[in-house]
Order: sequence, then C-alpha cells, then structure tokens
Amino acid sequence: MTHLCVPIFITDLTLARRDITAAVAAGADMVELRTDKLHDFSILEALLKDKLCEAIITSRSRAEGGFSPTGEEEARAARLTSPPLNQYAPFLDIEIAAVQRHPTLLQNASRETIILSTHDFAGKPANLSELSQLANSIPAAVTKIVWKAGAIRDNLDALNLLKNPPRPTIALCMGEPGLISRVLAKKFAAFLTFASLNAESATAPGQITIADMKNLYRWDAIRPSTKVFGVVAKPVGHSMSPALHNAAFTATGFDGIYLPMLVEPDYESFKNFLDDFAKFEGLDLTGLSVTIPHKGNALRYLKETGGQIEDLAGRIGAVNTLSINPTGKHSGKNTDYAAILDSIITELGITRDQLSTLRAAVVGAGGTGRAAVAALAHYGAETLISNRDADKARSLANEFNGHRGKVTAMPLDDLLREKCDVFINTTSVGMFPKVDETPLGDRRPPFSAKMLVFDTIYNPMKTKLLTQAEGCGSKTISGVEMFVRQAAVQFETWTGLPAPREVMRQVIADRLGKPLHSR
Ligand code: NAP
Repeated sequence: MTHLCVPIFITDLTLARRDITAAVAAGADMVELRTDKLHDFSILEALLKDKLCEAIITSRSRAEGGFSPTGEEEARAARLTSPPLNQYAPFLDIEIAAVQRHPTLLQNASRETIILSTHDFAGKPANLSELSQLANSIPAAVTKIVWKAGAIRDNLDALNLLKNPPRPTIALCMGEPGLISRVLAKKFAAFLTFASLNAESATAPGQITIADMKNLYRWDAIRPSTKVFGVVAKPVGHSMSPALHNAAFTATGFDGIYLPMLVEPDYESFKNFLDDFAKFEGLDLTGLSVTIPHKGNALRYLKETGGQIEDLAGRIGAVNTLSINPTGKHSGKNTDYAAILDSIITELGITRDQLSTLRAAVVGAGGTGRAAVAALAHYGAETLISNRDADKARSLANEFNGHRGKVTAMPLDDLLREKCDVFINTTSVGMFPKVDETPLGDRRPPFSAKMLVFDTIYNPMKTKLLTQAEGCGSKTISGVEMFVRQAAVQFETWTGLPAPREVMRQVIADRLGKPLHSR
C-alpha cells in the first residue's frame, strides 16, 4: 500500500492538531511532522500521544530545502531516539548526508523506523544508481530519493527506482514536470507520496494538494494495472483536459489516469519523450492528447516512424490524438476537425454530407482555422476565409480550394458583406482576459436569425461575439461544445466506451464557473 502523506510544519500545538485532523479528514493516512522550526518538543510529544495518524518526524536541513540549522543534527536525532519520544515509534526521516557526517547518528534508533533520505534541488543526481545503492546499504526501513525534475524524462528515472527495490522506497521529482512521479507513485507501489493540505502549505515545489490528488488525479482508483494517458503541451498547467478525462474515467469506471505532460516545444524533445514513455515497462502509456506546440511534431513523428495517420489529419498537418501501440507504430488522428463539423451538424440537424449545401465564413487561419477550412471543404461546403495576416488566408484557400468545396480568401470587410449560413471565429480575439473584444472590432455584426454563429473560444463560455449573435437572433455554438466533442472522440478512441459527454460538459462548466445547458 502506498501511503498518502500530508506534510505539516509544527510550530503551535493547536494549529498542528487542527491541520492533522484536516489532513486525516481529507484522506491522508500519514502525516509528516516537520520540526525544522520547533524548539518546544513537548508539542511534538503531545501530538504523538494523540495518535491521530501514523507519522513521520522530519527535521529538514537547510542544505536539503528545510530550515533546520546544520550543527543540530546529532542533538535532534538523539532527542527523537530517546525517551519520552522514542516510545511512540514514529518514522524518522534522517538525511543520508547527515549520517555520513555523523556515523553514530543512528546508533540509538530502531532500524524499522528510519527513512533515509536525500533531496537535490539542483536536479537529478549525476550518480543516481550509486546514490541509490549507497542509501540501500545503510540499515533503515525506507529509502527516499527526491530531486527537482529538469525534464519530463526524470519521472521515468524516479519510477525506475521503484521497480523491485531492495526495500520500501520513495522516489519523487519536484517541480511542475515531476507531477507524474508524484501521482504514479501508487501505480509503482512506492512507500508514499506527498500532498499538501492546501496550495499555500506545500513543502516542496510541484507538490499538489490532497484534494487534487484524490479528486482530480483519482488517487483511490490507481492500481498497478491502471493505464496512463496525458496531454502533451507547453505550457500545460492551465489545461482542463486532465479534469475532463479523469472525470470521464471515474464516470465510466475505466481503469485510467490522465496527467499533464510538460514537453519542450522542439521536435527532438517531443520525439525523445514519446520514445522513452511509450516503451517504459510497466507504465502502460495508452493515449495522448497533443496540443500547442506539438500537433505538427506528432504528425512528423508518425511519418518518421511508420505510424498510422488519419487521412484528414495528414492534410490538415496536425495530429491532436495519439493511440500508443507497444510495437512503436502508434496511430494519430485529429479530433478538432470532427468536433467542429459535428458541433455544426448537430445544431443544424443535418448530416455531414449535407454540409455541401452550406456557405461558411471562417475568420482566422491558425491551427483551428486550418482544421475548420479543411473539414468544411472536405465535406463540400463553400468556405470564405479571412485572416489578419492575409497571405496566410490566401495560402490556406489555395491549399484546400476545390478538394470538394470552393474556398476563397478575402478581407474581413468583404467577408462580412457576404451572405453565409455559418460564421466561425477561430481567432483568439475575445478570449479571457480580453473578453470585451471580438474579431469584428467596431463593425456592425452581420448576423441574422437564419445564421449559425460558432465561436471556438471556450473561455469565456459565452464570448462577446456570441452575445452579439444572440442579439441578432442567430443560433450559437460555444467553444465548450467543440472542446467537449474533441475530448469525447479521444476518450472513445482510447477506451472503446461511449464518452460520458454530460459529465464532461459539466466539468468544463464547473471549471469556468457557470451553469451550462446540455445539447
Ligand atoms: P493559432 O494557431 O495561434 O491561431 C490564432 C489565430 O488568431 C490566427 O488566425 C491569428 O491571426 C488570429 N489572431 C490572433 N490575435 C489576433 C488579433 N489581435 N486580431 C486578429 N486576429 C488575431 O491558435 P489556434 O490554436 O488556432 O487557436 C485559436 C483559437 O481557437 C483560440 O481562441 C483557442 O482557444 C481556440 N481553440 C478552441 C478549441 C476548442 O476545443 N474549443 C480547440 C483549439 C483552439 P494571424 O495569423 O494574423 O496571427
């Protein structure tokens, strides 16, 4: 069993009791009592006497990220390993470096209570395997090796330390890229992982809250068989995809966990990440969402490795969904274009083939604009496109014109004079925080009750453009609909199960803080 441990700094008895009680109520089965700043050890004794929860006593040195003054190690260890404190037999975290400085440090300690630890804030120790061997050679109950992740690959080095260790082990990476090691500690049967009581009380960089560990990252459901999924992006911290997919796993009972995966923008970083993670034994990497700036990298990777590429994804030049194959021949598709098409046809109550009877205006020629234009042209809609950078609009029109539907580029003022059935904003104009903007600027909205207006922006759920469209009596589609649909198709691709779309919509609505009507 992997413990879920909440670190608590002790300075005051009442506050410490309050925090331990809160940690237990939140689901912790262990607390780390940080005594770095403690002088009155009767407080610690009172807390141990309470027996509210299994405990680790830690006095972290300044050299390893704590506040405990160097030079006090022997006195502190002696106090913890002699009466009255030793009768409670909590775990004691003792740094390997302290044992090396003071070989007699552990002479009175009971071996079954010792966690031998090392923490490196500069990055992965150069001599990781020797360090692990050294730690495991010193009599103790648990080995703990922690460092600040320099890159996502460090997670695999940490998880590797958890494969058949000679004794219970904690191996964690600090920092944003290290989140994977913190959550997957349970899949790889680590002794424990840490989670903070709240965001302000985190004791190490990248430590997430116990609420997120339990609710967002499905702590209770993780087991050795759990399949791993993730969103590959930079930046990735803002992504709503983990909340969406993990809620879908919970709703359907699928044995999966979905994590943010921070990968540097260049192709080599993406390639190394995918090579390493796909073949890491025991990880069970099964599917990846791919987003900015990696959609082109994913396509290139599939081309170079002989993977399967969905036809339209190849033509759009962007893969946003990867299904991982243990042979190394992965497959990729683009669920953005399907989400755009299906949002439109569902609202209009038509089939994809009936799109050929429509005239669509698309503003924006970035990644989303490209997916919209390619998909509409593929299904025969006549498409008019306008973009701030007019050359981009022209080259997009040239590329897709005549595949089935006609595609024409034109300036925005001309586009707004054309009669269209559907108007799609694929620019980022109007996105949070600049919610008072629209891609039309000061121009009068050309919308009518016969039109469908689709804003691909999902934050805010109702943009100023959509408010204007409603004012003209138009039907509207929010980017939330597209976001949920692209994720739902990913979920169905990976799991073979029907996606719980209402649950997914509600997750987005909760995150964006507004009620949402269902479609
Ligand atoms: P992108 O590739 O960077 O393209 C951005 C587009 O916005 C370009 O056409 C750009 O024009 C235009 N633009 C940016 N600032 C502008 C301004 N001040 N005035 C006029 N045009 C401006 O980004 P993307 O990935 O396509 O994303 C675009 C939007 O789609 C974002 O709002 C994003 O949230 C949304 N999106 C939604 C979903 C969903 O599931 N709902 C999925 C993906 C994206 P230039 O070419 O002239 O720079």
